[in-house]
Amino acid sequence: MGTSYSAIITLIVTAGVINVIMGIYVLANRSKQMMSNIFIIFCMLAAIYTFGSALELAAGSLDEIKFWIKFEYLGMPFLPPLNLLLIMHFLGMDRYFKRFWYVVLFIIPVITVALVFTNEWHHFYYQSVELRTDTAILKANLEIGPWYIIQGGYTFGCMTGGVVLLLLNWNRMKASYRIQFFTMLFGLLLPLAGDYAYLSHLTPYGLDPIPVMMALTSAMYMWALTSKGLMNVAPIARDRLFESMSDGVLVLDMNNRLVDYNPSAANVMPELSPDLIGQAIEPFWKAHTDEPLVDSFILERRQDAGETGTQQEILWLLQGEKFYYHIRSSIVRKRNGQQSGKLIVMIDVTERTRLQQRLRDMAYYDGLTGIFNRSYFVQTGQTLLSKTVFLGEPLALVLFDVDYFKRINDTFGHSVGDEALIHVVQICQRVLRHEDVFARYGGEEFVVAMPGVTAAEAWEAADQMRRGLAEQPLELTQGPPLTITASFGVAAVNEVDADSEEDGLNSLLIAADRALYEAKRAGRNTVKLADGVETASISGT
Ligand code: GH3
Ligand code: MG
Ligand code: MG
Repeated sequence: MGTSYSAIITLIVTAGVINVIMGIYVLANRSKQMMSNIFIIFCMLAAIYTFGSALELAAGSLDEIKFWIKFEYLGMPFLPPLNLLLIMHFLGMDRYFKRFWYVVLFIIPVITVALVFTNEWHHFYYQSVELRTDTAILKANLEIGPWYIIQGGYTFGCMTGGVVLLLLNWNRMKASYRIQFFTMLFGLLLPLAGDYAYLSHLTPYGLDPIPVMMALTSAMYMWALTSKGLMNVAPIARDRLFESMSDGVLVLDMNNRLVDYNPSAANVMPELSPDLIGQAIEPFWKAHTDEPLVDSFILERRQDAGETGTQQEILWLLQGEKFYYHIRSSIVRKRNGQQSGKLIVMIDVTERTRLQQRLRDMAYYDGLTGIFNRSYFVQTGQTLLSKTVFLGEPLALVLFDVDYFKRINDTFGHSVGDEALIHVVQICQRVLRHEDVFARYGGEEFVVAMPGVTAAEAWEAADQMRRGLAEQPLELTQGPPLTITASFGVAAVNEVDADSEEDGLNSLLIAADRALYEAKRAGRNTVKLADGVETASISGT
């Protein structure tokens, strides 16, 4: 036996040991995932095959060789279907797999083992096993039988099937898993190439290179499956549905590090990239919203209480625009119930939220001027009145109407009329305080409720508005500036006559309206106080 020959045996034994070590490593770090179970079995059977083939080479007699061949067959025939299963798990196809098919995959290998162990009686697997006479080393010459071809074809079929499945899913594998993808593919092609070399008698001493290659293949698989946590989270993440969902989905680990995301999530968070996988997501999340990422602890407690997770609606800023997202968070658990991560689903509710806001605006605000509308004023006015009177404070109402507004419409057109209304509102707003409630009461009629303000103070405010209007004409695109005036009626509930609260807002409005009518009668561009108290009447400025 030459040195190179013992070197080969040593190499094979080393390969076997590597397989055992990898199997133990995954066993020790195992989650109860199907994928890791398959991998452990794969490693152990590969080790049996590898050790068997080393011992076959080291054997001292034909009987010993026959014994170790049988030993090899306890592992070898099962490796191709296990290989195929690993690939299907890697691609997330295990969901569609019934237990029945697991059994079916192993029918041929089981028959193979049975036939190999009983070969002496029927020679159905090997027609003959004899010692070779053409080599110096002790090696058996194997003449193959019919079932050998079936097992060989099955092996080839499983391996090719694996390659085809990988290639079919090429597009589905995101850039982040491309290296893993290539590693799996290479790990699969390696024994296929080895088989080819062996059958074409290209290997030294006609030795089978597969046992050594098995260790390499296992190592590549282990790396591909354990890196980026595929062994743990892949079955949830690698879903076709996941890829095509219109809702954004983020898969995080319990420390908020990115495990996976779908293309829709990348639209919501353009920062997401394959490089970010494994990194903390919080800084990128915070760039878009003030809402924190859902807390793992809270999520856990909610789910322990039997709830499916948490839901919230958040404001999301993206490229200077406001969006609204409905966020659903839940915990992803392994089969044994242990937490393996978090799933965050982001549903775009921007359209709906904007519509709701618009409906609310329409209920409260006047579409042209942006101040409150009449119905809102009537609703809140009464409450405001009750509150101020309860506090023993006065409340004043100022009602005003634009003078000869019909003429503005008739002369300059309706759109200039609209502009004039906006102009009036802008000027009056400068006089009013934050707590005053300013509303459009009718076409070109406005009302202001001023809490804490006496009749005399309200008259002063109204007159300030009147002067403001008269002094700041509306600039027109054509022709000279247009002076717009208005007439004002003021009514108030004073601290002394708090009893009048019972009369309510309505009587106050009636009083203000009467005063306004007085102001019109007095020649317009005037402020009149209700109850016939004529505080002042100034015409012009
Ligand atoms: P007075 O000094 O007596 O108030 O005279 P006036 O012309 O203002 O009389 P009146 O209050 O009867 O006229 C109101 C007009 O305002 C009638 C309507 O065509 C017009 N108007 C009501 N709402 C709007 C609006 O939203 N835009 C425009 N451009 N015109 C409006
Ligand atoms: Mg008018
Ligand atoms: Mg009017």
